[in-house]
Amino acid sequence: MSDGLNPFEFRTVPAIQLEWSGAKRLGEVVGARFAARKVLLVTDGGLVKAGIIAPIVASLEASGFAVTLFDEVVADPPEHVLLACVAKAKAAGVDIVIGLGGGSSLDVAKLAAVLLVSEQPLADLYGIGKVQGSRLPLIQVPTTAGTGSEVTNITILTTGETTKMGVVSPQLYADFVLLDGELTVGLPAVHTAATGIDAMVHAIEAYTSRHKKNPVSDALAREALRLLSANLIAACKDGTNRKAREAMLLGAMLAGQAFANSPVAAVHALAYPLGGHYHVPHGLSNALMLGPVLRFNAKAAAPLYAELADVIAGPGAGGAEARADVFVATMQKLMDESGAPRRLRDVGVTDNTLAMLASDAMKQTRLLVNNPVEVTEADALALYREAF
Ligand SMILES: [Zn+2]
Repeated sequence: MSDGLNPFEFRTVPAIQLEWSGAKRLGEVVGARFAARKVLLVTDGGLVKAGIIAPIVASLEASGFAVTLFDEVVADPPEHVLLACVAKAKAAGVDIVIGLGGGSSLDVAKLAAVLLVSEQPLADLYGIGKVQGSRLPLIQVPTTAGTGSEVTNITILTTGETTKMGVVSPQLYADFVLLDGELTVGLPAVHTAATGIDAMVHAIEAYTSRHKKNPVSDALAREALRLLSANLIAACKDGTNRKAREAMLLGAMLAGQAFANSPVAAVHALAYPLGGHYHVPHGLSNALMLGPVLRFNAKAAAPLYAELADVIAGPGAGGAEARADVFVATMQKLMDESGAPRRLRDVGVTDNTLAMLASDAMKQTRLLVNNPVEVTEADALALYREAF
């Protein structure tokens, strides 16, 4: 019996379509799959200004959809943004929801689809498995590579002034995901770098996650890391490189599938307070904390980091600890070359707030339990100091 597999369950979305320029014919794509025709399109004002939304709305309308546009999503979305979105959609009587944008738009779309048919108050949804009943049909179209939010069952909202809270429930898996690499072409290099590193963090943390790691999440994490590490620099250097953009989008999605089933850990726990207090974007805050946490975990996670060294640096000689060092050094080199900011002080964090950040990070117990090594508040403070 000792060689058997541990029991596990794996879930993901039922349908994914990858098609360059697919968003420009979103009406056809969605119209062929769903009967509903009163659509809520959840996005942000930046994409509207960039001219990305108008052709998509035109495509939906040409296929007979009545479109209610909600373009007020902001990074680290607070509860009132979601509630405003739901109110607008309710007034319009929508019967299908499309999230289109970065992780924040996709996250808001998930809970809007739930709240549009649910009597549950938002406050009752936080935590794991609290959502009851069903939701409206839900389609997700990411414009960054990325959060992987298009294939996860998680929404993160900012509650109160600074606290990040998560809703985790199977209802939040979308019905359909469109991956259109063309939507990511306009993403500036620094955002391409930060969001790409965040996607790598998802793969790494899923691969070393303490409780729910399984053979399927492992396979997805390895392939995600292979694609992301091989294409990050190319996508940063030339945003119009279609091959690199599609590989990054695919890699970010695979990493999302992995961590939806084998959850992320200390990098994310330490990153959330940076978003809450300083509005450092999610991807960047994870990129800033990755190096210190990799070094902190390296000893305990050596056998797993050694396996990941084969994926991102190719096979090599040496024992587990030496190969783990190769993995950490290769990740550092990638991050340096990507052009993403590397220190907390570069993004406006002041050293007199590090203790408060450490105390805040301790609240992320949902994530910290997944880390290969226990993180105390003193450890968290030391990690912020190292990142400063
Ligand atoms: Zn992340």
